[in-house]
Amino acid sequence: NTPLHELDPDVAAAVDAELHRQQSTLEMIASENFAPVAVMEAQGSVLTNKYAEGYPGRRYYGGCEHVDVVEQIAIDRIKELFGAEHANVQPHSGAQANAAAMFALLKPGDTIMGLNLAHGGHLTHGMKINFSGKLYNVVAYHVDDATGQVDMAEVERLAKESKPRLIVAGWSAYPRQLDFAAFRRIADEVGAYLMVDMAHFAGLVAAGLHPNPVPHAHVVTTTTHKTLGGPRGGVILCTAELAKKINSAVFPGQQGGPLEHVIAAKAVSFKVAASEEFKERQQRTLDGAKIIAERLVQDDVRQAGVSVLSGGTDVHLVLVDLRHSELDGQQAEDRLHEVGITVNRNAVPNDPRPPMVTSGLRIGTPALATRGFQAEDFREVADVIAEVLKPSYDAQALKGRVSALAAKHPLYPGL
Ligand code: PLP
Repeated sequence: NTPLHELDPDVAAAVDAELHRQQSTLEMIASENFAPVAVMEAQGSVLTNKYAEGYPGRRYYGGCEHVDVVEQIAIDRIKELFGAEHANVQPHSGAQANAAAMFALLKPGDTIMGLNLAHGGHLTHGMKINFSGKLYNVVAYHVDDATGQVDMAEVERLAKESKPRLIVAGWSAYPRQLDFAAFRRIADEVGAYLMVDMAHFAGLVAAGLHPNPVPHAHVVTTTTHKTLGGPRGGVILCTAELAKKINSAVFPGQQGGPLEHVIAAKAVSFKVAASEEFKERQQRTLDGAKIIAERLVQDDVRQAGVSVLSGGTDVHLVLVDLRHSELDGQQAEDRLHEVGITVNRNAVPNDPRPPMVTSGLRIGTPALATRGFQAEDFREVADVIAEVLKPSYDAQALKGRVSALAAKHPLYPGL
């Protein structure tokens, strides 16, 4: 029972340094969040020791009576949260959830449609060197140049031309809501399955602040660690009709033993996601993103060639367009890092700069909302970001403003 600090001081020091980094800087990577201590406690529990291949009540190992309880709680809670007929809580990650869902519904060589990576899609939606691009024939759709929104006329045209077996609706970097009913209508017209990947916006859906894709899609996948605020992991929701196919695609199709300690942590986070406090937090997440978008379209920033894709946001993130700025995505990310704000650079549609540099930034508010940020705090962050994106800025002064915000909202006090 030797504690980590004694057994392995090297790893312990890196963990401590990471805690300090999270506490002292402002986390604005749109796919990140801070898991509650109770979630981390479940994830760090003795359940990590248990093999449990199979599903509750039908395992290939003995001694599963307690992990069965945990996994069934997770399944019941997430079905209730999203109104789904069936849930599989075993995917180790969002990418694994997508791989399993596709494995369940497709054969290699089948055609799929997904949002192009540079237009906001995810690697698993058909990127060339991802499994999805290698196993399936990919027809990508795009956002419209003028509006920055998914071009549904193009989706319909491409679907009719290419007759996909599966259409993926979902995104990693897109500031608006998708029209799930329109996607389903198109899928039905061409005989395709509709899969919605709600990894980014699942927390907003759980809070009732974003349309729910579950009634429209054959399959819905998600991660549990983004807006949903749980442990790193994936989930697949589907109709009762597809339940068997999905379960056998996850196990034994794609995975071996499930991570029951992570599933316990997922269960805890689903309980949190059903609470009023969670709903209030998601509202602050949305309000914060709007405040940032509104600040970054003001004249003083516009004069530096900075704008916001689609002109604003309906979700938890803002996409900053630097195509007309002297600053590229890498420089802007570095400058923000220097003052204590963590974001990621991001390609924008028709990006003139290379993928490792990019002409965009993705800025998200979930982690700061979890930290307790209110509208006035988001106004202050938005102003710091605006100053950083101008040609000249006072790094020391901005660093001080960031530190003050971090101190105002302590993270994991007592850890
Ligand atoms: N799907 C979407 C839309 C995502 O944005 C991501 C991650 O960024 C994933 C799936 C993959 O999740 P993971 O990193 O857990 O594999």
